[in-house]
Amino acid sequence: MMNALRPGPSISSPTDNNKNNPIIDNIDVLLPEFFPPDMKKEDVEFYLKKTKTLSPISITNVSKNDWLHQCAATFNKYYNLKTNQVLRSEFYFINEPSGLCADALSCAFDKCYGSVKGGNSTDSIDCLNNQTDLASTTYDDVASMCNFPPSSLPEYITFPKNAAHVIAAIRYAKQNNVQISIKSTGHSYTGAHTKAGSLMLNMRNYTKYASGNDKIIECNGSGVQDDILGDACILAKARGKDAYIRVGGGQTWSDVHIAVNASNAVGNLSKMYDLGGGGSGSVGAAGGWLSGGGLSTGYERIHGLGIDQILELEVALPDGSHVRVFPIEWNNSEEYINPQTTKVAALCNTIVVANEDKWDWQPCTDLTVSPEDIWLAQRGGGGGTFAVTLSVKYQLFQQYPFQAIFMGLGALAASSDEKSKDLSKQISEKFKENKLWVWEEAKRTYALFLVDLLFAPEKIGVSEEASFSCGQAGMNYQFIGYGVLYCISAESVFPEIIAAWERTIKGTQLAKEDTGLAHLLSKVVISGESIGFGPYSSYADFIGDFLRKVEYPGTYNDIFPDDVIPDAPLPAR
Ligand SMILES: Cc1cc2nc3c(=O)[nH]c(=O)nc-3n(C[C@H](O)[C@H](O)[C@H](O)COP(=O)(O)OP(=O)(O)OC[C@H]3O[C@@H](n4cnc5c(N)ncnc54)[C@H](O)[C@@H]3O)c2cc1C
Repeated sequence: MMNALRPGPSISSPTDNNKNNPIIDNIDVLLPEFFPPDMKKEDVEFYLKKTKTLSPISITNVSKNDWLHQCAATFNKYYNLKTNQVLRSEFYFINEPSGLCADALSCAFDKCYGSVKGGNSTDSIDCLNNQTDLASTTYDDVASMCNFPPSSLPEYITFPKNAAHVIAAIRYAKQNNVQISIKSTGHSYTGAHTKAGSLMLNMRNYTKYASGNDKIIECNGSGVQDDILGDACILAKARGKDAYIRVGGGQTWSDVHIAVNASNAVGNLSKMYDLGGGGSGSVGAAGGWLSGGGLSTGYERIHGLGIDQILELEVALPDGSHVRVFPIEWNNSEEYINPQTTKVAALCNTIVVANEDKWDWQPCTDLTVSPEDIWLAQRGGGGGTFAVTLSVKYQLFQQYPFQAIFMGLGALAASSDEKSKDLSKQISEKFKENKLWVWEEAKRTYALFLVDLLFAPEKIGVSEEASFSCGQAGMNYQFIGYGVLYCISAESVFPEIIAAWERTIKGTQLAKEDTGLAHLLSKVVISGESIGFGPYSSYADFIGDFLRKVEYPGTYNDIFPDDVIPDAPLPAR
């Protein structure tokens, strides 16, 4: 049960004659919360008489029991001790009512330590996971029984729906000398979304701009004129891109992919579009992923990192300013893949209310930080550090077929395809017959082949175009491992890559000694297509099919909600 820290101003729609209107009645309380400090009271009253709604911000006390009953209990219910896996998608944890659950259970504790001793020891979490009836237990009881480390759960929580709410919360925190923590999804591996004693801004209910089937904005002709200064299309076009999408500060990649797919599907766009998002559907599309740089799913080698996709940022600063920042000058030199930003402009909203139609963007007059610094800090400076990201305009690029290429013994062994499994067994048997140097040469040849494929393709006779069209944020270079390379190109690049691999294997010493082994090794790089995967229209289409067929056959529907682009890996301790 959550208790109100301070009852949010109780507001209902103004009546026509504004008699007994709680907004007008509470104007002195509301003024600093919903409007800029310098806005005249009569202007606010004028606005309030015209508008029908003004939603209040509600700040509540956090109950650690909610965390125990919702996060820890759900975790325990789906936790498999043997595999150390939670067979429950992060989407479910994000949506638990308390808003306190995170990808890693231990991130409810200081520094995500699962033990009072810290380090890798997880004795407190072991003890917690052994509790069978958390529903009838209190946090304090389990904490003393399991010797919990200090909690990192916030003291207060709010679920802002719009910029006015965020800014009201920032002002409230300032007035009350409370620190702020910001959370989109709770995916932070270091628990950076939660802080003891803080007011958590849980962004999951924030306006979902990327939702529906009309959210791709094409920059046809002279471009879409957003407003006098901030035309995202001008920059998009300078980067050779023809469209963008606006994404809300609490949205997941699943939301964005679904909106892009739906907008593509309508069939009224000049081409099909794709984007460079994160690999896991439940990761925040505008939160920590972006603030940390944003690794994509192979697309970054052609299109750049997440931070390279931004055309414009809308943020709330710690002083309560509501600001949009965007490049207005850039160096388009041949030596750069993308134009290099040389000047950034900022616009400030002078009417911070829920209804965006009323926002009034003007050149900023009293920013305490330069637009360039905001632009730099928010694009890689670390989530939750400099500002609250409220929305991002992401450029989109032309969609090409998406192909997965599986590599390594691990990939063969894990394949749902019987031929590949058998191949992996045959190779392992062959290695047992051979000397150690054969194994060493195979490992080295494989790793160097992948390095050349990505960084010196000419050495192995692969075109630069084919090389650049493939990538992988978490490349596995180990022969025994499970490697997947994602490639996007109009024509399949697989024949070129497999031919290069066959040539490479033929040129080894081991091929001279054991042609049978060499033949088997030439099959270690396999196209997803040949084992029943794709080609797909995008990564978003691939990942669900892959998880359904390979990682969680038979259990997919129990783990992931319907209608999401799924997430992987699953939450952990
Ligand atoms: C299962 C899984 C898969 C992943 N896959 C990828 C991947 O493919 N590519 C990749 O690059 N990374 C990946 N990551 C890492 C991920 O990008 C980071 O953990 C990232 O910090 C998550 O951001 P979030 O907003 O989703 O999470 P949160 O934990 O909610 O936030 C992380 C940080 O961002 C801050 N933050 C959140 N929202 C906002 C906001 N609106 N404004 C300002 N600050 C905010 C928080 O305060 C916190 O500091 C993955 C992580 C997991 C757990």
